[in-house]
Amino acid sequence: MARKSDTEGGDDAGTAVRLVLLGRPGAGKGTQSARLARHFEIPHVSTGEILRAAVRDETDVGARARRYMESGELLPDDVVVAIVADRLAADSDVIGGFLLDGFPRTVAQAEALLEVTAPRGVDLVIDLDVPTDVVLGRLAGRRVCERCGADFPQSAGGPTPSDRCPRCGAEVAARGDDTDVTIARRLDVYESQTAPVAAWFAERDLLVKVDGIGDPDEVTARLLRTVERRRQERDTDR
Ligand code: ADP
Ligand code: ZN
Repeated sequence: MARKSDTEGGDDAGTAVRLVLLGRPGAGKGTQSARLARHFEIPHVSTGEILRAAVRDETDVGARARRYMESGELLPDDVVVAIVADRLAADSDVIGGFLLDGFPRTVAQAEALLEVTAPRGVDLVIDLDVPTDVVLGRLAGRRVCERCGADFPQSAGGPTPSDRCPRCGAEVAARGDDTDVTIARRLDVYESQTAPVAAWFAERDLLVKVDGIGDPDEVTARLLRTVERRRQERDTDR
């Protein structure tokens, strides 16, 4: 008898894509993830945004998360894995695809992700590459909406701290964890904990590096080309 994948392979070609975006703080993951998710009609799951919302809403998770976030440390793996597993269980049964932004950030989280999403796992992990000196400049000027989380780089003519968010009208301000000390810590944590995640996915042939420098629209075009190329390779591999 033919295996399921042999008989139904053609159906999978139309299945929504499963993506992970890695990159340093300030690489543009949030902005680019939102665009890719819209393009591919998949849910955008940002652990940073989920946690900031939990802090705002003063939930139990939020109360626990706050001190880690304020100091630029990672939350314990079991806490974030539970959040992501819940979110994927709610969405992916129906749609199949997702874009993860800010998760996984440790090898243990990556292992948990492949378990939670088995047997199909993820289709592609993109390392959005922006060097440290460039992200330092970007983070210094970054403003975010306190309500909806929209992100405004100051250099691109975004609103000043006193401005309102064009999307929802709430106040726009520097993010609480975008202080010099916290930024330095988050970059250290990235090198020590998250850079190994990229290597781990590379060993599994799931990683592709995309240059995150340049005009945001150009970066989006690069990302879309990268994902489409991967999907074509996957479809011709069958
Ligand atoms: P960044 O700009 O540093 O990429 P995020 O918005 O993705 O910021 O995350 C903000 C903070 O939320 C992190 O510094 C960390 O404290 C916490 N956090 C987000 N995702 C994770 C995760 N996968 N594991 C542990 N902590 C996380
Ligand atoms: Zn807003």
